[in-house]
Amino acid sequence: MRGTGFQSIVVLTGAGISAESGVPTFRGPDGLWEGHRIEDVATPQAFHRDPALVQAFYDARRAALARVEPNAAHRALAWLDAEWPGDLLIVTQNVDDLHERAGAARMVHMHGELKRAFCLACGERQAAPDTLSDGPACARCGAHGRLRPDIVWFGEMPYHMDRIEAALAACDLFVSIGTSGAVYPAAGFVQGARHYGAHTLEINLEPSEGTHVFHEARHGRAGDLVPLWVGALLEG
Ligand code: NAD
Ligand code: ZN
Repeated sequence: MRGTGFQSIVVLTGAGISAESGVPTFRGPDGLWEGHRIEDVATPQAFHRDPALVQAFYDARRAALARVEPNAAHRALAWLDAEWPGDLLIVTQNVDDLHERAGAARMVHMHGELKRAFCLACGERQAAPDTLSDGPACARCGAHGRLRPDIVWFGEMPYHMDRIEAALAACDLFVSIGTSGAVYPAAGFVQGARHYGAHTLEINLEPSEGTHVFHEARHGRAGDLVPLWVGALLEG
C-alpha cells in the first residue's frame, strides 16, 4: 500500500491507447474501421457470408503489427505492472500485442488476439500463422482451411469474464484508458467497480459515452497522461 491508499487496481484499455502507435481506432470520423463497416468484418454473420473478406481484413491487421511499436502509455502500464506491489489486472479490449511487447504481464485480452487463431474443426486455440487466407492446417487436427481469427466478434462472449468480474469486485481503483465506452460488457465495468466501492478514473482524448459515471476524468493523449498518472501513483 502506497501513500495513495490504493491496494488493488484494474486498468481497462481500448483502441485509444494504441492510436499514438499508429493503430487506427475502431470508429474513425467516418464511422468505419479501416474503411469497413463493423457489421462486415466483426460479426460471425460476416464471416459466414464472406469468409475471404474477413480473413483478408484480419490478415492485414496482423501484418500491420510488424510496423508499429508500443508507445509511452503502454510502457507506463508495463512499468506499473513491474513496480506495483498490490494486485493489478490490465484488461485490454485491444487485439494488438502492444501491451505485452512493452512488457506487461498481469494482463488479459478480453476480445482475443490477432496473433492467435482457433480451429472450427477441433476447437484448438493456437498461434496464428502470418496469413489465414490461404487455408493453413490446424496444428492439432491437421484440418485445412478451418482456422479463424481468435477474435471476439460482436454477439460472441468475451474471454476471461470470471477473472475480470472478480478483479472488479475486489479493486479499489478502476482506470479506463482510451476507450469510447460504447462496447459492452466492457463499457459497464466502471459501474461494476464503482458499485463495489472503487474510485474510478477515465483517461481519454475526449469525454467517453460513460464519462459521467466516473469519479474523475482526465482528457488528453494517453501517451502524455498515462505516464503522469503512473508516476504519481508509484511515487505517491
Ligand atoms: P473506440 O475506437 O471505440 O474508441 C477509442 C477511444 O479512444 C475514443 O473515445 C477516442 O476518443 C479515444 N482516443 C483516441 N486517440 C486517443 C489517444 N491518443 N489517447 C487517449 N484516447 C484516445 O475503441 P474501443 O472503445 O476500444 O472499442 C472497441 C473495439 O475495437 C474493441 O472491441 C477492440 O477489440 C476493437 N479494436 C481494437 C484495436 C486494437 O487492437 N488496437 C483497434 C481498433 C479496434
Ligand atoms: Zn483443428
